[in-house]
Amino acid sequence: MTQRVCLVHYHEIGLKGKNRSTFENQLVRNLRRALRGHGAADVRRVSGHLLVSFADGQATIEHAHVIAQVPGVARVSLAYQCGLDEDAYCAAAVQALREAGEFESFKVHARRSATTYELHTLDIHRLVGGVLCEAFPDKRVRMRDPDVTVFVLVVQGSVYVYAASLVGVGGLPVGTAGKVVTLLSSGFDSPVATWMVGRRGATCVPLHFSGRPMTSDASEWLCQDIVQALAPAGLVGRLYVVPFGERQREISLAVPQSLRIITYRRVMLAVAERLAHLEGAKALVTGESLGQVASQTLENIAAVNEVVSLPVLRPLIGSDKLEIMRRAEQIGTHEISSQSAEDCCTLFMPRRPETHARIEAVHEAWDAFDHEAMIDGLVDSIEYVDYDQCPSYRPPKEMRARHRELAPAVPRLA
Ligand code: ATP
Ligand code: MG
Repeated sequence: MTQRVCLVHYHEIGLKGKNRSTFENQLVRNLRRALRGHGAADVRRVSGHLLVSFADGQATIEHAHVIAQVPGVARVSLAYQCGLDEDAYCAAAVQALREAGEFESFKVHARRSATTYELHTLDIHRLVGGVLCEAFPDKRVRMRDPDVTVFVLVVQGSVYVYAASLVGVGGLPVGTAGKVVTLLSSGFDSPVATWMVGRRGATCVPLHFSGRPMTSDASEWLCQDIVQALAPAGLVGRLYVVPFGERQREISLAVPQSLRIITYRRVMLAVAERLAHLEGAKALVTGESLGQVASQTLENIAAVNEVVSLPVLRPLIGSDKLEIMRRAEQIGTHEISSQSAEDCCTLFMPRRPETHARIEAVHEAWDAFDHEAMIDGLVDSIEYVDYDQCPSYRPPKEMRARHRELAPAVPRLA
């Protein structure tokens, strides 16, 4: 019986040798999680691909769209799965070509990984090609650069036939590159930065500084919505939130106005590093892009960076705002980030922030308040929300008891 399945293709890069099965197994786990609630019956490896089948035997284009968002997926094809019966797979080829949209030329590409099947690839080309020429008499067969290629894949007792594929996000499966703490605001940049390191295989632990109690908790809701928007990619298992408003007020009273932002940032990064140690994360991530705003000059980046010893990854450092906004659209965070919410960044802002901070002045400001005690206090006041989206996320044991959960009710966007 012919069924519809999703055939998942991944890049061969980095899959050689011993890494290959780790990569594939993680991708299988991540796909299972992404498809939970979509009726996926089975995800398994077949001959250099992953095969996703459904309880009712009817994979749909919506399923393919979900799969395409999972890091590690290069392409996904909505394929027909037939037995070795020639009539059945030829009929599937006609159907697949019919669904391929507008085209003038086509070719058949067959591959066999079952050597027990008596037809060789050339025979399959001839057989399926002949049937397609009869079904589409006004179309041309073209071996170089055809508009559509009909793939016929013979694997064990099955034949998979497809003519169209969706492009996936590529990258590597989340959980194959270790853990990072990402500094997440509700702006456009940091959700994109988080997604980008997640797409390279990192399990992401976002940390948000809210202006609470000096501002509302609106930015916290937006960050929760951002984490939910990123759900199909499966990057995030837990969102941490630190209420920072009170401490910002203390900083604003203690340090020169022009150095407030740099000082807030130093505290934020120091807290992020402490969290990274608790979480076993090996790097920090920010959404900074060179020169975009006052705090993102080379001098200021250096002045903030020196408080931590973990590497700080800045995946957007060379991107411009339009590219970032386009990516935000694609990953589904643009609309959420368009909503303005006060967070710690809008609180106690100086009229003229320093753009080229002198490091001596920064150190003087840093020593004007008990920064160690403040960092300890902030780490102790961390709150979190858990998400069941990321199979590779393991929470640190010692934090489970110490920290309370945020209210789980997430206001939905209109
Ligand atoms: P974004 O769009 O990510 O908010 P931005 O262009 O507004 O970035 P800044 O406000 O200078 O730039 O922030 C630079 C980076 O610092 C952010 O990308 C993010 O990684 C981190 N950051 C800023 N505000 C917060 C916050 N409230 N909580 C956690 N991290 C933050
Ligand atoms: Mg911001």
